[in-house]
Amino acid sequence: MTYRFGLLGYPLIYSLSPLIHQVFLEESGLQGSYELIPIAINENRDERLRSVLKRMIRGEFDGLNVTIPHKQAVMPCLDLLDEKATAVGAVNTIYVNNGLLIGTNTDVQGFLLDLGQKLSLAEGGIALIFGAGGAARAVAYGLLENGWQVWIAARRPEQAEQIVRDLMTDANSQSKIPARMRVFSLEKEMEFDFAASQAPRLVVNATPLGTKGFEDGSPLPYRLLFPKDTCFYDLVYNPPETTFLRQAREHGHAAWNGLGMLVQQAALAFECWTGRKLNLTLDIESKILARIQSNYG
Ligand code: NAP
Repeated sequence: MTYRFGLLGYPLIYSLSPLIHQVFLEESGLQGSYELIPIAINENRDERLRSVLKRMIRGEFDGLNVTIPHKQAVMPCLDLLDEKATAVGAVNTIYVNNGLLIGTNTDVQGFLLDLGQKLSLAEGGIALIFGAGGAARAVAYGLLENGWQVWIAARRPEQAEQIVRDLMTDANSQSKIPARMRVFSLEKEMEFDFAASQAPRLVVNATPLGTKGFEDGSPLPYRLLFPKDTCFYDLVYNPPETTFLRQAREHGHAAWNGLGMLVQQAALAFECWTGRKLNLTLDIESKILARIQSNYG
């Protein structure tokens, strides 16, 4: 069998997914391809999404990923959403089961698997997340499920408040969840209260600031001081060192980019499409890194 996978999103010019899935196919001894399917936001967007999904039902695609800006838009086009996609309110992976299009979200587990290799998730703590889009939702959901407190700082606080409301009403969440969440306005940095007992253990960039095209940007207020043991995680992975990571490292903090999460979420999607569980050894990770470096310098 020759697998055919694809990615729906826009723009896709910097996507590393084809390269990562090529390594997975080789490592599993499978044949296949992973193609980019750019679909811009315009009046034909829904029609074009539905047309690719029809091709999937006909057997043209064995698996699809979805990225910005379609993670929410694709949801009404699917037959079923699993628990994670429903809780997060976003789909990043689509597969077919018994003729039905099913949407799931591997970002949650991908983030947790990667973060769990860097610090003890079970210890919990406060996580301060910048941004209130689809990725912020996935990170917030995953951390709340692991007993963390989640603070969300957004330039549109109403967007963060919606996340609190949605996670609060999720059937799987405990009634304690709202008490474990706070919302801040990104514009009013002085409202942050970092008294020692109330300092974030983890700070996450879930905005596109720092990525290609926005390289100089960072959501981190420059003057903000965090305790030395606060760790920083940037969901952005391209370029590998963003302004956010540089700011954190200059102040002596441990700081990681989102490449590990990208690889983990891709491996979960690959497993969902092929039934093959990948053992993400250092060997595979260095192969992926070498491919990225030879393709993108
Ligand atoms: P999204 O749904 O578009 O959300 C982006 C969030 O960032 C929104 O809250 C947006 O606010 C905010 N934002 C955008 N520009 C901003 C600015 N200049 N200042 C302050 N806030 C700003 O995107 P997403 O899917 O959450 O993705 C966010 C980032 O995470 C992207 O760079 C994406 O590539 C990355 N990501 C990485 C992984 C991984 O595996 N490593 C997985 C998922 C996502 P507005 O709504 O007001 O614009």
